[in-house]
Amino acid sequence: MKVYLDNASTTQIDPMVLEAMLPFLKKDYGNSFSPNKMGESAMEAIEKSRIIIAKSINAMPEEIIFTSGGTESNNFAIKGVAFANRDKGNHIITTKIEHKSVSKSCEWLEEQGFEITYLNVNEKGFLNVGDLEKAITDKTILVSIIHGQNEIGTIQDLNALGDICKKHNIYFHTDACQSYTKTEINVQEQAIDLISLNAHKIHGPKGVGALYLRNGTKINAWQNGGAQERGLRAGTDNVAGIVGFAKAVELDSNIEYINSLKEQLINGFFAIDKIKMNNNQYGLPHIISISFFGIEGEAIVASLDLEDIYVATGSACSSNDLQPSNALLAIGLTPQEANSTVRFSLSRFNTEQEIDKLLDVLPKTVEKLRKISPFK
Ligand SMILES: *Cc1c(COP(=O)(O)O)cnc(C)c1O
Repeated sequence: MKVYLDNASTTQIDPMVLEAMLPFLKKDYGNSFSPNKMGESAMEAIEKSRIIIAKSINAMPEEIIFTSGGTESNNFAIKGVAFANRDKGNHIITTKIEHKSVSKSCEWLEEQGFEITYLNVNEKGFLNVGDLEKAITDKTILVSIIHGQNEIGTIQDLNALGDICKKHNIYFHTDACQSYTKTEINVQEQAIDLISLNAHKIHGPKGVGALYLRNGTKINAWQNGGAQERGLRAGTDNVAGIVGFAKAVELDSNIEYINSLKEQLINGFFAIDKIKMNNNQYGLPHIISISFFGIEGEAIVASLDLEDIYVATGSACSSNDLQPSNALLAIGLTPQEANSTVRFSLSRFNTEQEIDKLLDVLPKTVEKLRKISPFK
Protein backbone atom coordinates (compact mmCIF):
# COMPACT_ATOMS: atom_id res chain seq x y z
CA MET A 1 0.00 0.00 0.00
CA LYS A 2 1.39 3.38 -1.05
CA VAL A 3 1.00 6.08 1.60
CA TYR A 4 1.37 9.61 0.26
CA LEU A 5 1.73 12.10 3.11
CA ASP A 6 3.40 14.95 1.24
CA ASN A 7 0.30 16.90 0.28
CA ALA A 8 1.78 20.24 1.31
CA SER A 9 4.25 19.78 -1.57
CA THR A 10 1.64 18.81 -4.10
CA THR A 11 -1.57 16.82 -4.27
CA GLN A 12 -2.98 14.20 -6.57
CA ILE A 13 -5.36 15.55 -9.17
CA ASP A 14 -9.02 14.87 -8.36
CA PRO A 15 -10.55 12.62 -11.07
CA MET A 16 -13.38 15.15 -11.48
CA VAL A 17 -10.85 17.90 -12.12
CA LEU A 18 -9.19 15.79 -14.80
CA GLU A 19 -12.59 15.09 -16.41
CA ALA A 20 -13.33 18.82 -16.54
CA MET A 21 -9.96 19.53 -18.16
CA LEU A 22 -9.89 16.84 -20.84
CA PRO A 23 -12.23 18.49 -23.38
CA PHE A 24 -9.90 21.52 -23.45
CA LEU A 25 -6.90 19.31 -24.19
CA LYS A 26 -8.68 17.20 -26.80
CA LYS A 27 -11.29 18.96 -28.90
CA ASP A 28 -11.75 22.49 -27.51
CA TYR A 29 -8.12 23.49 -27.95
CA GLY A 30 -8.78 26.96 -29.35
CA ASN A 31 -6.81 30.05 -28.38
CA SER A 32 -9.01 32.17 -26.12
CA PHE A 33 -7.82 35.29 -27.96
CA SER A 34 -8.67 34.00 -31.45
CA PRO A 35 -11.63 35.68 -33.11
CA ASN A 36 -13.33 32.40 -34.06
CA LYS A 37 -15.78 29.98 -32.46
CA MET A 38 -13.02 27.77 -31.05
CA GLY A 39 -11.49 30.83 -29.43
CA GLU A 40 -14.83 31.97 -28.09
CA SER A 41 -15.53 28.70 -26.33
CA ALA A 42 -12.07 28.77 -24.75
CA MET A 43 -12.66 32.35 -23.60
CA GLU A 44 -16.05 31.42 -22.22
CA ALA A 45 -14.51 28.57 -20.19
CA ILE A 46 -11.89 30.92 -18.78
CA GLU A 47 -14.40 33.57 -17.80
CA LYS A 48 -16.63 30.97 -16.10
CA SER A 49 -13.61 29.76 -14.16
CA ARG A 50 -12.69 33.31 -13.20
CA ILE A 51 -16.16 33.83 -11.71
CA ILE A 52 -15.89 30.63 -9.64
CA ILE A 53 -12.50 31.59 -8.22
CA ALA A 54 -13.55 35.20 -7.59
CA LYS A 55 -16.66 34.04 -5.71
CA SER A 56 -14.62 31.73 -3.51
CA ILE A 57 -12.95 34.76 -1.90
CA ASN A 58 -15.86 37.19 -2.42
CA ALA A 59 -13.98 39.18 -5.09
CA MET A 60 -15.03 40.60 -8.48
CA PRO A 61 -14.09 38.45 -11.52
CA GLU A 62 -11.91 41.20 -12.99
CA GLU A 63 -9.82 41.14 -9.81
CA ILE A 64 -8.53 37.62 -10.62
CA ILE A 65 -5.39 37.39 -12.79
CA PHE A 66 -4.40 33.88 -13.87
CA THR A 67 -0.72 32.94 -13.55
CA SER A 68 1.44 29.83 -13.73
CA GLY A 69 1.19 29.19 -9.98
CA GLY A 70 2.03 30.37 -6.50
CA THR A 71 5.65 31.24 -7.23
CA GLU A 72 4.71 33.50 -10.12
CA SER A 73 1.85 35.12 -8.19
CA ASN A 74 4.21 35.94 -5.32
CA ASN A 75 6.91 37.34 -7.62
CA PHE A 76 4.32 39.34 -9.58
CA ALA A 77 2.65 40.77 -6.46
CA ILE A 78 5.82 41.77 -4.64
CA LYS A 79 7.99 43.01 -7.51
CA GLY A 80 5.02 44.51 -9.37
CA VAL A 81 3.87 46.59 -6.40
CA ALA A 82 7.44 47.48 -5.37
CA PHE A 83 8.38 49.05 -8.70
CA ALA A 84 4.99 50.64 -9.38
CA ASN A 85 5.10 52.45 -6.03
CA ARG A 86 8.80 53.27 -5.95
CA ASP A 87 8.02 57.01 -5.96
CA LYS A 88 6.21 56.64 -2.61
CA GLY A 89 8.90 54.66 -0.83
CA ASN A 90 11.27 51.70 -0.89
CA HIS A 91 10.40 49.84 2.31
CA ILE A 92 8.72 46.43 2.39
CA ILE A 93 7.77 44.40 5.45
CA THR A 94 7.61 40.61 5.40
CA THR A 95 8.30 37.76 7.85
CA LYS A 96 10.93 35.14 8.60
CA ILE A 97 8.51 32.30 7.83
CA GLU A 98 7.69 32.99 4.19
CA HIS A 99 7.80 30.54 1.30
CA LYS A 100 11.03 30.91 -0.67
CA SER A 101 9.19 32.55 -3.58
CA VAL A 102 8.42 35.48 -1.26
CA SER A 103 11.67 35.63 0.70
CA LYS A 104 13.87 35.31 -2.40
CA SER A 105 11.82 37.98 -4.19
CA CYS A 106 12.41 40.28 -1.22
CA GLU A 107 16.14 39.48 -1.16
CA TRP A 108 16.33 40.28 -4.86
CA LEU A 109 14.55 43.59 -4.28
CA GLU A 110 17.13 44.41 -1.60
CA GLU A 111 19.77 44.19 -4.32
CA GLN A 112 17.69 46.66 -6.35
CA GLY A 113 17.75 49.25 -3.57
CA PHE A 114 14.65 48.32 -1.58
CA GLU A 115 14.76 47.92 2.18
CA ILE A 116 13.17 44.87 3.71
CA THR A 117 12.14 44.22 7.31
CA TYR A 118 11.78 40.53 8.20
CA LEU A 119 9.43 40.20 11.18
CA ASN A 120 9.90 37.38 13.64
CA VAL A 121 7.20 35.11 15.04
CA ASN A 122 6.75 33.69 18.55
CA GLU A 123 7.47 30.05 19.49
CA LYS A 124 3.99 29.07 18.30
CA GLY A 125 4.63 30.64 14.90
CA PHE A 126 2.37 33.68 15.33
CA LEU A 127 3.21 37.19 14.28
CA ASN A 128 2.69 39.98 16.81
CA VAL A 129 0.39 42.58 15.30
CA GLY A 130 2.05 45.29 17.37
CA ASP A 131 5.42 44.35 15.81
CA LEU A 132 3.98 45.00 12.37
CA GLU A 133 2.72 48.42 13.35
CA LYS A 134 6.07 49.33 14.92
CA ALA A 135 7.96 48.32 11.76
CA ILE A 136 5.96 50.66 9.52
CA THR A 137 7.75 53.83 8.39
CA ASP A 138 6.70 56.64 6.05
CA LYS A 139 8.58 54.77 3.30
CA THR A 140 6.65 51.50 3.67
CA ILE A 141 4.76 50.61 0.49
CA LEU A 142 3.98 46.90 0.91
CA VAL A 143 3.46 44.28 3.60
CA SER A 144 3.64 40.62 2.55
CA ILE A 145 2.68 37.97 5.10
CA ILE A 146 2.03 34.28 4.54
CA HIS A 147 -1.48 33.13 5.52
CA GLY A 148 -1.19 29.39 6.24
CA GLN A 149 2.45 28.39 6.70
CA ASN A 150 3.62 25.47 4.57
CA GLU A 151 5.95 23.82 7.12
CA ILE A 152 4.38 24.41 10.53
CA GLY A 153 0.79 25.12 9.47
CA THR A 154 0.25 28.31 11.49
CA ILE A 155 -2.51 30.61 10.27
CA GLN A 156 -1.94 34.34 10.67
CA ASP A 157 -4.74 36.75 11.56
CA LEU A 158 -5.40 38.42 8.21
CA ASN A 159 -8.11 40.66 9.69
CA ALA A 160 -5.88 42.25 12.28
CA LEU A 161 -2.84 42.52 9.98
CA GLY A 162 -4.88 43.90 7.08
CA ASP A 163 -6.53 46.51 9.29
CA ILE A 164 -3.14 47.89 10.30
CA CYS A 165 -2.02 48.12 6.67
CA LYS A 166 -5.27 49.81 5.71
CA LYS A 167 -4.95 52.31 8.54
CA HIS A 168 -1.50 53.28 7.25
CA ASN A 169 -2.53 53.17 3.58
CA ILE A 170 -0.04 50.39 2.71
CA TYR A 171 -0.69 47.54 0.28
CA PHE A 172 -1.18 44.17 1.97
CA HIS A 173 -0.28 40.94 0.16
CA THR A 174 -0.76 37.43 1.48
CA ASP A 175 0.48 34.09 0.17
CA ALA A 176 -2.57 31.85 0.63
CA CYS A 177 -1.40 28.87 -1.46
CA GLN A 178 -1.49 26.54 1.52
CA SER A 179 -4.62 27.88 3.25
CA TYR A 180 -6.88 28.39 0.23
CA THR A 181 -10.19 26.46 0.53
CA LYS A 182 -9.09 25.26 3.98
CA THR A 183 -9.80 28.44 5.89
CA GLU A 184 -11.96 31.39 4.96
CA ILE A 185 -10.71 34.27 2.84
CA ASN A 186 -13.16 37.10 2.19
CA VAL A 187 -11.82 40.23 0.54
CA GLN A 188 -14.96 42.19 1.40
CA GLU A 189 -14.36 41.66 5.10
CA GLN A 190 -10.58 41.41 5.19
CA ALA A 191 -8.42 44.33 4.09
CA ILE A 192 -6.23 42.36 1.67
CA ASP A 193 -5.07 43.92 -1.62
CA LEU A 194 -3.26 40.98 -3.20
CA ILE A 195 -3.58 37.22 -2.65
CA SER A 196 -1.49 34.44 -4.20
CA LEU A 197 -3.35 31.21 -4.98
CA ASN A 198 -2.52 28.00 -6.82
CA ALA A 199 -4.24 24.85 -8.03
CA HIS A 200 -1.88 21.96 -7.36
CA LYS A 201 -2.14 22.20 -3.56
CA ILE A 202 -5.91 21.63 -3.77
CA HIS A 203 -6.10 18.61 -6.13
CA GLY A 204 -5.91 20.76 -9.25
CA PRO A 205 -3.27 20.66 -12.00
CA LYS A 206 0.31 21.92 -11.60
CA GLY A 207 1.42 25.07 -13.38
CA VAL A 208 -1.63 27.24 -12.81
CA GLY A 209 -2.51 29.78 -10.16
CA ALA A 210 -3.98 33.21 -9.69
CA LEU A 211 -3.29 36.57 -8.16
CA TYR A 212 -6.21 38.40 -6.61
CA LEU A 213 -5.63 42.08 -7.28
CA ARG A 214 -7.98 44.52 -5.53
CA ASN A 215 -9.42 47.05 -7.97
CA GLY A 216 -7.31 50.20 -7.93
CA THR A 217 -4.07 48.50 -6.79
CA LYS A 218 -1.08 50.13 -8.45
CA ILE A 219 1.05 47.37 -9.96
CA ASN A 220 3.35 46.93 -12.95
CA ALA A 221 2.58 44.44 -15.71
CA TRP A 222 4.37 41.17 -15.09
CA GLN A 223 4.69 39.86 -18.64
CA ASN A 224 4.52 42.14 -21.67
CA GLY A 225 2.98 40.93 -24.88
CA GLY A 226 -0.64 40.25 -25.75
CA ALA A 227 -3.64 41.71 -23.97
CA GLN A 228 -4.39 38.63 -21.87
CA GLU A 229 -5.26 39.14 -18.21
CA ARG A 230 -5.93 42.85 -18.64
CA GLY A 231 -2.50 43.29 -20.22
CA LEU A 232 -0.86 42.58 -16.86
CA ARG A 233 0.15 39.01 -17.63
CA ALA A 234 0.54 38.39 -21.35
CA GLY A 235 0.74 34.90 -22.81
CA THR A 236 -1.67 32.39 -24.34
CA ASP A 237 -4.10 31.25 -21.67
CA ASN A 238 -3.66 27.82 -20.07
CA VAL A 239 -7.30 26.97 -20.73
CA ALA A 240 -7.36 23.39 -19.45
CA GLY A 241 -5.32 24.36 -16.39
CA ILE A 242 -7.62 27.25 -15.54
CA VAL A 243 -10.73 25.09 -15.97
CA GLY A 244 -9.17 22.43 -13.74
CA PHE A 245 -8.24 25.03 -11.14
CA ALA A 246 -11.86 26.27 -10.95
CA LYS A 247 -13.17 22.71 -10.71
CA ALA A 248 -10.79 22.01 -7.83
CA VAL A 249 -12.08 25.10 -6.03
CA GLU A 250 -15.68 23.92 -6.40
CA LEU A 251 -15.08 20.51 -4.84
CA ASP A 252 -15.56 19.91 -1.13
CA SER A 253 -12.28 20.20 0.79
CA ASN A 254 -13.47 17.72 3.50
CA ILE A 255 -11.78 19.57 6.34
CA GLU A 256 -13.55 17.56 9.04
CA TYR A 257 -12.34 14.30 7.54
CA ILE A 258 -8.78 15.60 7.27
CA ASN A 259 -8.97 16.74 10.89
CA SER A 260 -10.02 13.25 11.95
CA LEU A 261 -6.99 11.75 10.19
CA LYS A 262 -4.79 14.35 11.87
CA GLU A 263 -6.15 13.34 15.26
CA GLN A 264 -5.50 9.67 14.50
CA LEU A 265 -1.95 10.52 13.49
CA ILE A 266 -1.21 12.71 16.50
CA ASN A 267 -2.67 10.16 18.94
CA GLY A 268 -0.42 7.52 17.42
CA PHE A 269 2.67 9.68 17.83
CA PHE A 270 2.31 9.53 21.62
CA ALA A 271 3.80 6.04 21.38
CA ILE A 272 7.13 7.55 20.33
CA ASP A 273 9.32 9.26 22.91
CA LYS A 274 11.61 12.28 22.57
CA ILE A 275 9.59 14.06 19.93
CA LYS A 276 8.29 17.62 19.66
CA MET A 277 5.25 18.74 17.73
CA ASN A 278 5.88 22.01 15.89
CA ASN A 279 2.36 22.67 14.60
CA ASN A 280 -0.29 23.82 17.06
CA GLN A 281 -3.99 23.03 17.35
CA TYR A 282 -5.03 26.29 15.69
CA GLY A 283 -3.11 25.55 12.51
CA LEU A 284 -3.97 24.21 9.08
CA PRO A 285 -5.78 20.86 9.26
CA HIS A 286 -3.42 19.00 6.94
CA ILE A 287 0.06 19.82 8.28
CA ILE A 288 1.84 17.99 11.09
CA SER A 289 5.47 18.80 11.82
CA ILE A 290 7.43 16.63 14.24
CA SER A 291 11.04 16.81 15.43
CA PHE A 292 12.53 13.43 16.34
CA PHE A 293 15.39 14.23 18.68
CA GLY A 294 18.69 12.61 17.82
CA ILE A 295 17.81 11.60 14.24
CA GLU A 296 18.23 13.34 10.91
CA GLY A 297 14.87 14.06 9.30
CA GLU A 298 16.38 12.94 6.02
CA ALA A 299 17.13 9.50 7.46
CA ILE A 300 13.49 9.08 8.48
CA VAL A 301 12.28 10.20 5.05
CA ALA A 302 14.64 7.73 3.34
CA SER A 303 13.65 4.83 5.63
CA LEU A 304 9.92 5.46 5.14
CA ASP A 305 10.49 5.67 1.39
CA LEU A 306 11.62 2.03 1.43
CA GLU A 307 8.23 1.18 2.95
CA ASP A 308 6.34 3.13 0.26
CA ILE A 309 5.49 5.90 2.71
CA TYR A 310 6.16 9.35 1.29
CA VAL A 311 6.82 12.27 3.64
CA ALA A 312 9.09 15.32 3.59
CA THR A 313 11.73 16.86 5.80
CA GLY A 314 10.82 20.17 7.52
CA SER A 315 10.09 21.73 4.17
CA ALA A 316 10.14 20.19 0.74
CA CYS A 317 11.75 23.31 -0.65
CA SER A 318 14.59 23.21 1.86
CA SER A 319 15.07 19.51 1.29
CA ASN A 320 17.61 19.97 -1.45
CA ASP A 321 19.91 22.31 0.42
CA LEU A 322 21.55 21.69 3.74
CA GLN A 323 20.32 24.89 5.39
CA PRO A 324 17.82 24.26 8.17
CA SER A 325 14.39 25.69 7.46
CA ASN A 326 13.93 29.37 8.36
CA ALA A 327 10.43 28.79 9.71
CA LEU A 328 11.64 26.10 12.10
CA LEU A 329 14.48 28.31 13.33
CA ALA A 330 12.03 31.21 13.69
CA ILE A 331 9.89 29.26 16.15
CA GLY A 332 12.99 28.60 18.24
CA LEU A 333 14.27 25.22 17.12
CA THR A 334 18.05 24.74 17.16
CA PRO A 335 19.58 23.94 13.74
CA GLN A 336 19.96 20.33 14.87
CA GLU A 337 16.31 20.11 15.96
CA ALA A 338 15.22 21.72 12.70
CA ASN A 339 17.18 19.11 10.76
CA SER A 340 15.50 16.35 12.76
CA THR A 341 12.07 17.47 11.60
CA VAL A 342 9.66 15.59 9.37
CA ARG A 343 6.50 17.02 7.85
CA PHE A 344 3.47 14.75 7.40
CA SER A 345 0.82 16.42 5.25
CA LEU A 346 -2.62 14.99 4.63
CA SER A 347 -5.33 15.20 2.00
CA ARG A 348 -8.90 14.02 1.64
CA PHE A 349 -7.59 11.06 -0.40
CA ASN A 350 -5.71 9.57 2.56
CA THR A 351 -7.37 6.75 4.51
CA GLU A 352 -7.36 5.53 8.11
CA GLN A 353 -5.63 2.35 6.90
CA GLU A 354 -2.79 4.43 5.49
CA ILE A 355 -2.33 6.24 8.78
CA ASP A 356 -2.38 2.85 10.54
CA LYS A 357 0.43 1.68 8.30
CA LEU A 358 2.52 4.75 9.10
CA LEU A 359 1.88 4.30 12.82
CA ASP A 360 2.97 0.69 12.57
CA VAL A 361 6.19 1.43 10.67
CA LEU A 362 7.31 4.74 12.18
CA PRO A 363 8.04 3.74 15.83
CA LYS A 364 10.23 0.85 14.63
CA THR A 365 12.00 3.14 12.17
CA VAL A 366 12.68 5.73 14.84
CA GLU A 367 13.98 3.12 17.27
CA LYS A 368 16.27 1.59 14.66
CA LEU A 369 17.64 4.98 13.56
CA ARG A 370 18.22 6.14 17.14
CA LYS A 371 20.33 3.05 17.77
CA ILE A 372 22.69 3.88 14.93
CA SER A 373 22.51 7.69 15.25
CA PRO A 374 25.84 9.52 15.66
CA PHE A 375 24.21 12.31 17.73
CA LYS A 376 23.18 11.30 21.22
C1 LIG B 1 3.50 25.60 -2.96
C2 LIG B 1 3.57 26.97 -2.41
C3 LIG B 1 4.00 28.04 -3.21
C4 LIG B 1 4.51 27.84 -4.62
O1 LIG B 1 3.48 27.54 -5.50
P1 LIG B 1 3.79 26.87 -6.94
O2 LIG B 1 2.43 26.84 -7.57
O3 LIG B 1 4.33 25.52 -6.65
O4 LIG B 1 4.73 27.76 -7.64
C5 LIG B 1 4.03 29.29 -2.65
N1 LIG B 1 3.65 29.48 -1.38
C6 LIG B 1 3.23 28.49 -0.58
C7 LIG B 1 2.82 28.78 0.81
C8 LIG B 1 3.18 27.20 -1.07
O5 LIG B 1 2.79 26.21 -0.27
